[in-house]
Amino acid sequence: MIRISAGSAACMGLTTNKMDAYPTTAYFLSGNSCRMGCSFCPQGSGNNVILDRLGRVNWPEFAWESVKEGLHRAEKNGTRRICLQSVRHDIGIEPLLKLVKRFKEISDLPLSLSAWIKDQDEATALFKAGADRISVSIDVVDPDLYRTYKGGSLEERLDLLLGCAKELPGKMSTHIICGLGESEKEAFGLIDRLVKAGITIALFAFVPLKGTPLERGSPPPVESYRRVQAGYFLLEEALAEYESFKFDERGRLISFGIPKSRLRKHLYPGTAFQTSGCPDCNRPFYNERPGGIIYNYHRPLSKKERAAGLELLFKSLQE
Ligand code: SF4
Repeated sequence: MIRISAGSAACMGLTTNKMDAYPTTAYFLSGNSCRMGCSFCPQGSGNNVILDRLGRVNWPEFAWESVKEGLHRAEKNGTRRICLQSVRHDIGIEPLLKLVKRFKEISDLPLSLSAWIKDQDEATALFKAGADRISVSIDVVDPDLYRTYKGGSLEERLDLLLGCAKELPGKMSTHIICGLGESEKEAFGLIDRLVKAGITIALFAFVPLKGTPLERGSPPPVESYRRVQAGYFLLEEALAEYESFKFDERGRLISFGIPKSRLRKHLYPGTAFQTSGCPDCNRPFYNERPGGIIYNYHRPLSKKERAAGLELLFKSLQE
């Protein structure tokens, strides 16, 4: 059996659920109940574990035998990548290696793996088994909050991620959650470091989830999230430099340090507000309810959405 996100399962023809949008990546989840105790995650040990939830998405179980045909159907529906997410279980990477190989035997789609690895050797072995990209999730950018919400040391995890990126250039990704109490200045300091190391970043907006210690928290203000999305886009595309960014005394971004006319031109297409991460990863409604505020657009924005996003962003900048 393997868990498949509800949207992916529908796209694979495994359910008849009506979805608002199909994902362009097929998302799989391996393992039950994680050894990590992340305060924001329904899979975290010690939390009120909900095995079929990760983020705000449901992950029903399906027989492995249904996956091959399902992936072929999903390809016809526009799926261009597989993402295998694994909880941390500390029984070595053998089960993960087997799973990656199993996927590669039944599908030619590139495979991203998001898993807890202990060192570079494990990353190398997983790439050898067929992974196209590996994500080492940072999630929390403030070192103290990292210790509180995830446990352990942010710098140690970063050392591993940056070390892997040096040895395996262009192959590493990470996840960052905005709205956990970090300042925008801290977020951009880390984003800049990661971009310079060639690491692809999947930005998430914090979602308070029932059964987790942070269930009473709040998602980030959307204008703050738009600033982080825009800043990451500008840094990633080398259209601005972190050294030119300006912040107020609370660490809130007030200027990207480039003329507004140029900024408008760069951001006009709306790409900055679309889901970021591995190629073809669009994660529909991971952060938002259909019909609610959209933090990560899983598709190109309409003219009206682009205008609204830009207006909100520009209104929140001082220069
Ligand atoms: S960015 Fe998307 S495809 Fe890549 S590891 Fe994260 S969820 Fe998976």
